[in-house]
Amino acid sequence: MKRIFSGVQPSGNPTIGNYLGAFKQFVELQHDADSAIYCVVDLHAITVPQDPAKLRKRSREIAQIYLACGVDPSKASIFIQSHVKEHAELGWLLQCMTYMGEANRMTQYKDKSEGKANVNVGLFTYPVLMAADILLYDATHVPVGDDQKQHIELTRDIAERFNNRFGETFVIPEPQIQEFGARIMALDEPTKKMSKSAENEGSRIALLEDPAVFKKKIMRAVTDTENEIRFDEENKPGVSNLLTLYSLYADESVESLVNRYQGQGYGTLKKDLVEVMTDKMGAIQKRFRELDDQTELDRILKQGADQAREIAEKTVNRVKDAMGFVRI
Ligand code: ATP
Ligand code: MG
Repeated sequence: MKRIFSGVQPSGNPTIGNYLGAFKQFVELQHDADSAIYCVVDLHAITVPQDPAKLRKRSREIAQIYLACGVDPSKASIFIQSHVKEHAELGWLLQCMTYMGEANRMTQYKDKSEGKANVNVGLFTYPVLMAADILLYDATHVPVGDDQKQHIELTRDIAERFNNRFGETFVIPEPQIQEFGARIMALDEPTKKMSKSAENEGSRIALLEDPAVFKKKIMRAVTDTENEIRFDEENKPGVSNLLTLYSLYADESVESLVNRYQGQGYGTLKKDLVEVMTDKMGAIQKRFRELDDQTELDRILKQGADQAREIAEKTVNRVKDAMGFVRI
């Protein structure tokens, strides 16, 4: 049985990185899996400070974006993480199965805590809650961007440890990471990944952003002092990132683009990229506006949570039985 699970945090406005690394895969995978479950991971979002009103608004917005990108609620369950209490419960049980040393090796924690005066414990245990999300649903495949690979490896380690100690309980999940487009880089600093919660707005393009706004960001995107259009992620991360975006949005190979733009300046490449993106993003934005029916959205979210809860309750009971908790 092939079951897909993934989630996105309502921690900011979703970016084209989230789209190319995650949402796009969610849509493709829902067709060839036996079931697919897509979550809005609000419990993860509070590992960094969130404004309550914004958190509430964005949680629904992420669900609406799932739909606008093409996730079909008759094929996939869409729900909000905090609506299924078992996430927090299994999260705790798995914290007691995770070593400090392995949690300490997680690079996302290092990146997100770097230079911050106050970091909460939840940011440190974030990957364990993510392991709970995935293991709750016996997910076989987890579509994510490249930055989450390490967390899936930790999930597998925790699940294997649990199974060895308490008997077969969890399905061991596989990460599903695209070969190309799994790591879209920040426009202002192309050696870092693009993130929806990064401080500098100019570093990212939101999926719902106006073309006039993202045009400025692309025209200002950091490149290099050469004037040669060539794909070389190590020496030319900025230009390579633009070529990646172009290739994915225009469905044209990088090789063909490099040939076509031979001898032309970065400005021309950027201008054409804006045009290609305007078309593709416009279609998603139009669908997003059409889907602006909160009653219908809440109905879908409730239905998704009911479907998810049914599976999650069974898993938690299985885990508690295996660990020796009393059930009456
Ligand atoms: P935050 O800055 O709050 O962590 P984020 O942009 O990293 O936000 P997440 O909600 O953490 O987004 O991740 C959602 C999904 O998008 C994950 O599967 C993640 O791997 C993927 N993703 C995030 N950033 C990128 C990126 N730059 N390129 C490709 N995939 C990405
Ligand atoms: Mg992230």
